[in-house]
Amino acid sequence: MRDIADDVLIDLQPSEIERRLQEYQALLANDSVGILVVRNGELKQCNSSAARLFGWHSSELVGRPASVLFTSDDEFQSFACRISEALSADGSPAIEWRTVRQDGSRFWARLLVKSITPGGPAGETVWMVEDISARKEMEAALSKAREDLEQRVRAAHDELAWSNERLVAELYERSEVEERARRISLYDELTELPNRRLLESRLDEAVRNHQLGGDRLAVLVIDIDEFTKLNDALGHRVGDALLCATADRLVETVRTSDLVARTGGDQFSIVLGRLRHVEDAVNVATKLAELLSAPFEIDAEQVNVTVSVGAALFPSDGASPELLLRNADAALSFAKSRGRGNVQLFEPRMNSDMVRRLQIEAGLRQALDNHGFEIHFQPRIDLQTRKLVGAEAFVRWIDPVHGLQEPAAFIAVAEDTGLILPIGEVVLRQACTAAMQWTEAGLGELIVSVNLSPREFRGRSLLPMVSQVLIDSRLDAERLQVEITEASLMRDGEKAEQVLSGLHAMGVKIALDNFGTGYSSLSNLRRFPVDVIKIDGQFVRAGPNDPADCKIVAALTSLARGLGLRVVAEGVETQAQLSFVRDCGCNEAQGFLLGRPLTSAGFVEFANSLRKTPKAT
Ligand code: C2E
Ligand code: MG
Repeated sequence: MRDIADDVLIDLQPSEIERRLQEYQALLANDSVGILVVRNGELKQCNSSAARLFGWHSSELVGRPASVLFTSDDEFQSFACRISEALSADGSPAIEWRTVRQDGSRFWARLLVKSITPGGPAGETVWMVEDISARKEMEAALSKAREDLEQRVRAAHDELAWSNERLVAELYERSEVEERARRISLYDELTELPNRRLLESRLDEAVRNHQLGGDRLAVLVIDIDEFTKLNDALGHRVGDALLCATADRLVETVRTSDLVARTGGDQFSIVLGRLRHVEDAVNVATKLAELLSAPFEIDAEQVNVTVSVGAALFPSDGASPELLLRNADAALSFAKSRGRGNVQLFEPRMNSDMVRRLQIEAGLRQALDNHGFEIHFQPRIDLQTRKLVGAEAFVRWIDPVHGLQEPAAFIAVAEDTGLILPIGEVVLRQACTAAMQWTEAGLGELIVSVNLSPREFRGRSLLPMVSQVLIDSRLDAERLQVEITEASLMRDGEKAEQVLSGLHAMGVKIALDNFGTGYSSLSNLRRFPVDVIKIDGQFVRAGPNDPADCKIVAALTSLARGLGLRVVAEGVETQAQLSFVRDCGCNEAQGFLLGRPLTSAGFVEFANSLRKTPKAT
């Protein structure tokens, strides 16, 4: 095939030139592509397809400037510049341009421009025009769709990024909350020490590791003595500071491999590892107790405490963490029952003691609800007149299982648990009521004496309680005597002075019980408003046979009487003892010889029989 661009017409015969021209006309008339011949910016030829594309008749278009196909001359000039740049670069540019139809409407055209005479006069070009509006529309639609998609993807991405950020923040927050929850569940907030839960799990691990072989373990349970009282007196802020300081001292003292935990309000527990000997646990416990009894400096004030410690050893005192902790607790209870500042290693008997103590506590609570206490009265006889002057009230607990219980069996538990306060009130009420009944029974104005335990004595409500009971029973205050031991006086001298003065001011008599057995400071007799001293039964029993005891009783009696106090001899069991206390100058006596403790009704009977035959003395 021949390329018409290669044609050289000059050398041809006219007939051949004619034929070639016809061929070119035929090519130009081709319908599928618009063809325009442009010379120096003027449209010189066009085929019907080109005219139709631009909305002209061929005859109208030819001879017009090519700029009619553009919106303005300037635009045509820009197009022309593009053409000449492209022609000089690659020879046949294909340019896409928005051209203009005759009616002013625009359409996208693809213009393939060729120079008609390469190397000939510039500006002679043929343009092959193709309407690409449909393609452009599609492309525009496509690009819009792509843009939309991209925008949606961007939006989705932004949303995802935001969600991701939120998720990360949430995860962080949750992990913080979880960490806090974990800390709260395993650590004590105040001291930041592990709590009971963590201690149990660590102890469990330690026990399992040691079961594989290893040294002994010990669990120490440390309790600050009378912390509640201290907390009330000094305030909770000081109490908290004291707990933190105690925690610090414990942590500083034990090995880093040992575990210190706070396992109760004022209770700490320690797991000691790698112990060679049983004594090691006791030594550490004693050392800790000593260290904690050194003064604490809190808010520039010195605070002194003592602690009680219970210890249990693995494996001898328990093979499981629960048992070890329980037994260390039992040892602690035992240590506390012996007073302040004691260290106690677990012994198997403590468990049965504990069980019994719990039974007693439950029994006492029931007894309080079900009138399960009975008061027995022991006669007090005047040694001069040999007459009945009164009675001392002793509480008895009717234990539904074990029968009538004397105070030795339950008073300590009542004291430890605080039940002594309601029990004390029951005793006082029944004693005062009984005294009134005796008067009604014609026994006269007998004095009734009631024992007060240290805890009742220290309690805030003693004075209002006594006063209320006196009002309720209508007993004259002078007919009530309270008995306290020297030990309770000594424990809290200032408070004791206040309480005793309060009672005394009401008219209630004060007796110092078991005199001679405790701290026995004679100055107490001057310091406190005491009316009566009760010489303890042990001197009374020993007195007749023991010259030293005999002298003590005689001296005490003469001194007390010199101070204007009445002296009562307790525990008189024999005639010899009775003569002895009378000879010593005691004013009154009580004891099995003169009368055993009796129920109120029994006491009335006894008093009546005594009036008929005053043989006892
Ligand atoms: P206490 O006040 O020194 O009472 C004397 C105890 O000796 C009483 O024992 C009494 O029954 C007993 N007794 C009386 N005469 C003789 C005797 O001739 N020979 C011997 N061997 N003993 C005699 P009880 O009733 O068992 O009371 C023991 C302690 O329990 C009392 O010692 C007192 O400290 C306390 N107690 C008793 N009743 C109450 C109470 O209602 N409240 C409080 N807080 N303590 C009480
Ligand atoms: Mg007494």
